[in-house]
Amino acid sequence: MAVDALGRPLRDLRISVTDRCNFRCTYCMPKEVFGRDFAFLERAELLTFEEIARLAQLFVREGVTKFRLTGGEPLLRRDIERLVAMLSRIRGVEDIALTTNGALLTREKALALRNAGLNRITLSLDSLDDAVFRRMNDVEFPVARVLDAIDAASDAGLTPIKIDMVVKRGENDDSIVGMASRFRGTGHIVRFIEYMDVGNTNGWRMEDVVSAREIAERIAEQWPIEPIPSNYFGEVAERWRYIDGAGEIGIISSVTQPFCGSCTRARLSADGKLYLCLFAGTGHDLRGLLRGAADDETIAAAIRSRWHKRDDRYSEIRTEATPATKVEMSHIGG
Ligand code: SAM
Ligand code: SF4
Ligand code: SF4
Repeated sequence: MAVDALGRPLRDLRISVTDRCNFRCTYCMPKEVFGRDFAFLERAELLTFEEIARLAQLFVREGVTKFRLTGGEPLLRRDIERLVAMLSRIRGVEDIALTTNGALLTREKALALRNAGLNRITLSLDSLDDAVFRRMNDVEFPVARVLDAIDAASDAGLTPIKIDMVVKRGENDDSIVGMASRFRGTGHIVRFIEYMDVGNTNGWRMEDVVSAREIAERIAEQWPIEPIPSNYFGEVAERWRYIDGAGEIGIISSVTQPFCGSCTRARLSADGKLYLCLFAGTGHDLRGLLRGAADDETIAAAIRSRWHKRDDRYSEIRTEATPATKVEMSHIGG
């Protein structure tokens, strides 16, 4: 098992399958930057499904047991269920999940993903207030269609569904209680995420962050909640349950209470670079090895040696150590 310089094992691999998106969330891909002229990756630069599956299998050899498909918007990649099926055939994989904005998650797609072996799905939804949501996704996408996608995922059995809301002060913090209220008692788990300073383009300021503590307090004012233990080592969300039995919520405190000490996640960008931290300045090219006909052992050794040297813990030292240029969230998928 690969262990990094701070003793953290390699357990999870987040696979970005595209850097493109059909949304322009203001905190992730602001239109002013990701406009018509933006140079997205060319098709030939993207890893093929076969290349992704080969790398994935080598990551499993080094200790990975969980995959998460992300993007950009992963459902923009045609026949993504074919990749899910390939990943689900790798021996030693315990969990395959996908994060999506839901815009392309029809009933047929949800079933196809489930049948291909997808275990879980996370949908992003930042508000139930249509005006607020449209302003944040910046492509006039309505709330109702994300709610339809949530139902489609639920009916396909991709449960329990997680619903991720990035909280930004002054934009959607008034939607916290509404989101909690709408999904209490449904079995779906809303996770409130502190707005992060990922990438270089979203104009992040500490004043815009609503802390995990404040989020918990706002919910507890409506319904009493209590913390519950995490499901496994390295789980990022603090779990809370409603004392009245209406289910649980998660709060992800990446800014105010960082969790680098238990960070077991590697990230693979759509063009085959290995990133060791969400805030890394550079990635390590694996596509060159794949396309240069390296054998499995050579590629596995490259992954292992990068992980051994890993000492990233950006969120714990955020104020001292901002790299000059950070990778964009849409490039490695959160
Ligand atoms: N497009 C898909 C989606 O939105 O679900 C998957 C990729 S998206 C980059 C993954 C997650 O990152 C989303 O839940 C999104 O809200 C979150 N995210 C993006 N920018 C963020 C930021 N600045 N702070 C916190 N979370 C962010
Ligand atoms: Fe697209 Fe997801 Fe980023 Fe929004 S958060 S712009 S949906 S990649
Ligand atoms: Fe992991 Fe980097 Fe996030 Fe810390 S800042 S939890 S090391 S991805």
